[in-house]
Amino acid sequence: MKSFDVVVIGGGPGGYVSAIRCAQLGFSTACLEGRLSEEGQPVLGGTCLNTGCIPSKALLDSSHHYAFIKHEAARHGINVGGVTMDIHKMMDRKNKVVQKLTQGISGLFIKNKVEWLPGHGKLLGNNQIRVTPVGQEVAPEYMISAKHIIIATGSVPTKLPPAPVDQDKIVDSTGALAFTDVPRRLGIIGAGVIGLELGSVWSRMGSEVIILEAMDDFLTSLDRQIATEAEKVLRKQGLDIRFGSKVTGTGLSSREVTITLEDREGKQQLAVDKLIVAVGRSPNTQGLGAETAGLALSERGFIKVDERCMTNLPNVYAIGDVARGPMLAHKAAEEGVAVAERLAGKAGHINLDTVPWVIYTWPEIAWVGKTELELKAAGHPYKAGVFPFAASGRAHAAGDVAGMVKMLSDSDTDRILGIHILGPNASELIAEAVLALEFDGSSEDIARTIHAHPTLSEAMHEAALAVDNRTLHL
Ligand code: FAD
Ligand code: NAD
Repeated sequence: MKSFDVVVIGGGPGGYVSAIRCAQLGFSTACLEGRLSEEGQPVLGGTCLNTGCIPSKALLDSSHHYAFIKHEAARHGINVGGVTMDIHKMMDRKNKVVQKLTQGISGLFIKNKVEWLPGHGKLLGNNQIRVTPVGQEVAPEYMISAKHIIIATGSVPTKLPPAPVDQDKIVDSTGALAFTDVPRRLGIIGAGVIGLELGSVWSRMGSEVIILEAMDDFLTSLDRQIATEAEKVLRKQGLDIRFGSKVTGTGLSSREVTITLEDREGKQQLAVDKLIVAVGRSPNTQGLGAETAGLALSERGFIKVDERCMTNLPNVYAIGDVARGPMLAHKAAEEGVAVAERLAGKAGHINLDTVPWVIYTWPEIAWVGKTELELKAAGHPYKAGVFPFAASGRAHAAGDVAGMVKMLSDSDTDRILGIHILGPNASELIAEAVLALEFDGSSEDIARTIHAHPTLSEAMHEAALAVDNRTLHL
């Protein structure tokens, strides 16, 4: 039986990053990954690279360019006639981006001497794994052993019984990233991160998008001021978000999906060409052998871990979407690094309080730390500073003036507690906010930091000045 210092189960951003770091630290390391590409080839990168972050951002970028040329370019004095869309080429480009990046990980494995074992892993206790190989030439099952096991098996779309996914008319996010035609009328169940991002993609491409949200509000972990503003902007772009809509059933015909739902007005029916189900993701422990190995799971199916990502089994760790905390690629990767470094006797750590969130609509939404509601609920005295992009020179030059930066800091110490952005390139701007929180910075620190002119980052500077009621450009 082959044995390793570390075996990582799962080759997504949690698993592959952890495997690389383990190998860099001198451990003999293998990474098991059971995923096959559309062509039936073993592939690394997990949900993020294959069916998540990367393909969705490729389509968000393509559709953004298309919408810009159609609706915005003329405002810049650029007249473009005869704009057409080649959806096959757009999808082909997205697939090539995915292929390039997933192949890149295989290259990184070779460079760092991580052994990639294409196969599905099943735990047999705390140091043995049974591997069922995947790929074209399927070989017999075999056993491997490890001193340490890191589980990074990720998550899968949550099922909604009234809307069973067939990946044709009723799809999950994976199906929605591979449409070959632009649906005329697109229904989406769930106004969460996926609903808004994929709703934006297809709305920009010309679909009429109706988003059915069960709750009376959306994006409940966002600061309310930002969420209210985001709702206005997204509605203006054409996303028809219907709160309090509970889907009770669906019916399929050769041409459409009929959705039965209940809202404030009672029972309704709605016909769409395609329906995306985006009601959250669930931890993936299918086939992992958790029960037989005695691995403890929470009520919601997450692998139970402590603050060091240690499970109840000695020498077995769990990271990323399958463990508690935000289901984000960068959280998974940082946990992977932290576990590797602790195994090597270093001080690896992850601060779940400073994990940034980004929603890649346009304008983008990004935040880190506490919201105003959370601070109020905790009775934490705070000061708030807000600066709108409508007062930013760079935002005007770019023609992107929607949104704001909002900064919250402690009333007594001025330590920054949260930063919330709705605006152009918020995904990049949030990095300064994360660094400030990680360094226990104050709004005064940012107020005294020189920001280049003219940049969008000046809005961060002005929001910091606003905390002390001394904005210069408002
Ligand atoms: P995963 O990436 O899910 O990888 C787990 C891997 O383990 C899978 O490939 C699976 O095949 C493999 N596996 C499972 N069980 C076994 C087993 N027993 N043996 C062998 N292999 C196994 N996050 C962001 O931070 N930014 C974004 O922009 C973003 N966009 C997203 C867009 C979409 C449409 C979706 C669906 C998700 C998005 N996410 C985004 C979330 C992000 O994809 C996940 O948080 C991230 O992939 C989690 O990483 P992971 O390593 O924990 O798991
Ligand atoms: P989500 O939790 O963000 O949103 C799900 C939404 O569906 C919620 O608003 C919820 O109230 C609603 N909902 C639940 N049940 C419903 C029902 N029966 N009918 C109508 N609405 C219902 O989940 P998601 O959008 O599926 O995304 C899953 C996760 O993937 C995210 O939470 C995030 O962790 C990750 N993700 C991240 C990014 C990013 O970082 N940009 C992008 C996509 C996905």
